[in-house]
Amino acid sequence: MRSICNDPMHCAFIQSHRLSIIITCMSDAGPEDNVKEQATPAEPVRLSTRVEKLHGIGSRRAQQMNRLDIVTVSDLIRHLPMRYEQEFAEGTVSDLPMEGIGSARGTVMTCRWAGGPGNKGRFEATLQDHSDRIYLKWFNARYLTDKIKPGMLLRVQGKVKAFGGYPQMVNAKWEVIDEGDPSKRTNDRLKPVYPSTEGLNSDAIEKLIAQVLPLVLDQVIDPLDDAFRKKRNLPALSDAFAMAHSPKNEEEAAAARRRLAFNELLLLQLGIAIKRHFNETRLIAPALRWSASMDEHIRARFPFALTMAQELVIKEIAGDLQKDRPMNRLVQGDVGAGKTVVALYALLMAVSSRQQGAMMAPTELLAEQHFQSISRMLEGSNVRLALLVGGMPAAKRSEMLAQIESGKIDIVVGTHALLTSTVKFKELAVVVVDEQHRFGVMQRATLRSRGSEDAAPSERIRAPHCLVMTATPIPRTLSLTVFGDLDISTITGLPPGRQPIITRVVVPEKADDVYRYMAERIAQGEQAYIVVPIIDASGHESSAQLKNVRDHAKLIQDKYCRGFKVAAIHGQLERDTREKTMQKFRKNEVHVLVATTVIEVGVDVPNATMMIVEHAERFGLSQLHQLRGRVGRGSDGRKSLAVFIGDPTTEDATKRLAAIGSTTDGFKISEMDFEIRGMGDIFGTRQHGALPLRVARLPEHMELLQMARRDATVLIDTDPLLGEPSHTLLRKVLVREYGETIGLVDVG
Ligand code: ADP
Ligand code: MG
Repeated sequence: MRSICNDPMHCAFIQSHRLSIIITCMSDAGPEDNVKEQATPAEPVRLSTRVEKLHGIGSRRAQQMNRLDIVTVSDLIRHLPMRYEQEFAEGTVSDLPMEGIGSARGTVMTCRWAGGPGNKGRFEATLQDHSDRIYLKWFNARYLTDKIKPGMLLRVQGKVKAFGGYPQMVNAKWEVIDEGDPSKRTNDRLKPVYPSTEGLNSDAIEKLIAQVLPLVLDQVIDPLDDAFRKKRNLPALSDAFAMAHSPKNEEEAAAARRRLAFNELLLLQLGIAIKRHFNETRLIAPALRWSASMDEHIRARFPFALTMAQELVIKEIAGDLQKDRPMNRLVQGDVGAGKTVVALYALLMAVSSRQQGAMMAPTELLAEQHFQSISRMLEGSNVRLALLVGGMPAAKRSEMLAQIESGKIDIVVGTHALLTSTVKFKELAVVVVDEQHRFGVMQRATLRSRGSEDAAPSERIRAPHCLVMTATPIPRTLSLTVFGDLDISTITGLPPGRQPIITRVVVPEKADDVYRYMAERIAQGEQAYIVVPIIDASGHESSAQLKNVRDHAKLIQDKYCRGFKVAAIHGQLERDTREKTMQKFRKNEVHVLVATTVIEVGVDVPNATMMIVEHAERFGLSQLHQLRGRVGRGSDGRKSLAVFIGDPTTEDATKRLAAIGSTTDGFKISEMDFEIRGMGDIFGTRQHGALPLRVARLPEHMELLQMARRDATVLIDTDPLLGEPSHTLLRKVLVREYGETIGLVDVG
């Protein structure tokens, strides 16, 4: 059992991860739940039995199974087919339906290869049973000469056509049948196709599952009762497993999938609902002051009037911060929408209440930039601001840490260095996490859990308010799943005066034209970014074909920008050097910046009006959108331009480039990104097991997700501790995972 006592603030991601284990537990009933245990002599097979303990499974086979994440019998039966193939009942050869698909078995009478020494040609055979004879032909399949021999018993399936008075099958599916195997396929069926691995193919997996499934099916306990299931038209859990592995028809396969998907989604939503309940009842945050004069003071710091959208979001945040329950809010707004001042407002509210704030950015460059823009806005105020980044001199760092701990510093800006355990705050009230999607989600959880390690179950746990900001809007579907524990605010639109960015996607042959045009605009006082995929030509497998920062900067300088200054910037440069270069770029002493994606997020230079991306096919869609968002930041009416130079070789890359050219709306981009990439990878969290959804497919199962969400909400609203007898099993499953500390076992 795990406990969430140590980190009660765990975000939904973590929860999701745990839920995947809950799902295991659901079907993996422990001995104490195993009410219907079978009285088999010898060693009974249980869901928790490790596969190597199964009769006839050697260590090599077990290793192969482990490669597919199959460790226990429970894992094995949860290894679901990825698709099905229709198989037809066997008839006699004379019964095969002309012009239809059929299956029959017979003895191979003759074989021959009609073709040359290569693979071109056809393999022909005749197959005969007591009723008739059929001709078989496989094109370009010379390898069959070694596989199919006269005298063999063969089962074939395929479309039957008339050929010279005899039936014939072309490219039939075939299978050698052991002489001693009398089993005839008497029914049409859907043959499951499983994810497989070397040495363990789908057929072998099918056999294994067919052997084991009947032994354990009645150990599968359904946490959902009949009435509940009937209402939602869901089959019983054990039926769902049986049907998933050997469905009679498409309907059964779909019903099984629906049920298993619902399981995942319900548990996910229950986890989120319980988490919310936990937050509401167990966590305590400092309630911050708000007054009109304080509001006026804060606004006076901003060099512009807030947009309506910013006003609304600030209102929501200020509302949250005045409560003694930790805010848990995501602010989404397109690149350049103006999220920084919204964050600063929250941080200053903490300072006004004599508490501390922290702001974290995904890169040092960004942290530095936030530090500078916030410093500018706070110039002349009493607010004490510090920048904490990696690689600071040890003495300076420890002095800063002491000041943070003693409360001498009000706002700390940093990277994830802020998350290391050496950073202690005196009174941390507000945490801002910028560009959340680039952050390890684990990190978010770490910071938020600080200081709660020793809390007793009855104690209210102190936690800071948390604001997460992202320029990659969360597709609606996902916002209900992984972000289900967050309240979401959206900054719509862009600040006034912003000109739309013109986007062009061009082939590499046009690069010369692009740079000539760029040079003309540089000559008129504008500035440009050029982004390339790698830093230098060394040590990269495909470096020969890829433009790199060093060489490209030189080429641009020599060929297009004589008389102007071209500089290079990338992650391997010393921070000082990088900062100096950025400084010069800001002052328009550097005119063209050739960079890697270090400039992807946040960099803000209004006079830069051109973004040129080389090898655009190599970048993700959201990344391209982020890069484009580096320009179009001036408010003087000049039109900014983004040029994506790309040569897509894959379907996805083609889609990405088409998508980036089709819209500048970040919300549309994120939906398209979601569609192209699917859910698993969109936040780069796959390695953390962030999404426990093995069966459910989004957005396809959206309706199921909404149903699960409604059910979970009702369940937790009416029975927050899942104490009612009908919820015993659900509670057991959740408790086994989350531990007693969420209070679920205090009842019953
Ligand atoms: P992002 O949402 O991408 O973090 P920023 O906070 O960096 O956006 O804001 C982008 C630019 O817009 C900055 O130059 C900022 O000063 C400017 N800005 C933000 N809000 C406003 C506003 N209400 N009016 C005018 N300019 C604004
Ligand atoms: Mg920003």
